[in-house]
Amino acid sequence: MGILRNKRRREEREPADARYGSPSPTDAPYGTPPPAAAVELRGVRRRYGRGGGAVHALRGIDLSLPRGSFTAVMGPSGSGKSTFLQCAAGLDLPTEGSVRLGGTEITGMNENQLTELRRSRLGFVFQAFNLLPSLTVEQNVLLPMRLAGGGSARQGRADAAELLARVGLEGKGHRRPTELSGGQQQRVAIARALVTRPDVIFADEPTGALDTTTAAEVLDLLRTAVDSLGATVVMVTHDPVAATHADQVLFLADGLIADRLPRTDATTIAARMRTLTTRPALAGAAA
Ligand code: ADP
Repeated sequence: MGILRNKRRREEREPADARYGSPSPTDAPYGTPPPAAAVELRGVRRRYGRGGGAVHALRGIDLSLPRGSFTAVMGPSGSGKSTFLQCAAGLDLPTEGSVRLGGTEITGMNENQLTELRRSRLGFVFQAFNLLPSLTVEQNVLLPMRLAGGGSARQGRADAAELLARVGLEGKGHRRPTELSGGQQQRVAIARALVTRPDVIFADEPTGALDTTTAAEVLDLLRTAVDSLGATVVMVTHDPVAATHADQVLFLADGLIADRLPRTDATTIAARMRTLTTRPALAGAAA
């Protein structure tokens, strides 16, 4: 029974191995539906608390992000960015609505299923890198594989070496994170996020702790992961320059998508942000 269940799990994971690079079976030309979006939110609402004191952090988000796209999410403080990221990444469940990741509906999943989904099908990059200091760089990169129980040690080392080369850290696998610069640590985190070939990489202010030059290098790396590996990236940022690396910028305001801009320059993004930030208070505040 247990073996069967494990086998089935592995089979369910198999298409994931084809997620980058090789054509998917759904690329067939006629009569087949288009491949599932990497991220799809329908009518997503998230309310904290109840009654008169309830906070409506997300008030109806509809969104579909194709595979191989890079999306920046911006918005004033309190607009719902963190709640959006948490709901989209299965770290929190919406009060209403549906979230699908790589075609899989996650809103009805229990905590164990969500944990498994996050491990095997999502990658995370945080502002504070979140590497384990007691592990080597290579062990940090391979951690999601180990947690998911996949792969041989030898294959793991080969995968880690290839990813470390891709992120510009060739030969650094045996170092400890503390021996690396901030930018290098974030590169390790990106390699770790890529190792399971996830459906989506969620990045939360990934350049918030980096200087301008290093930040640009890390953003170039995320861009390359999208362009040459077909990764899908959703990045929350407050930095208009960081958002210039994305294919589109979503602007949240009061729990709704207030606007979208296709890839554009930092001046245009900053100007749009200012109009959101300086907008007069919404109904409820006014008499
Ligand atoms: P942002 O990341 O854009 O600053 P958040 O998603 O953190 O926005 O917050 C959106 C709204 O939800 C804010 O009004 C915030 O105060 C509220 N909020 C966030 N988390 C909680 C919580 N755990 N309990 C109550 N209210 C919350």
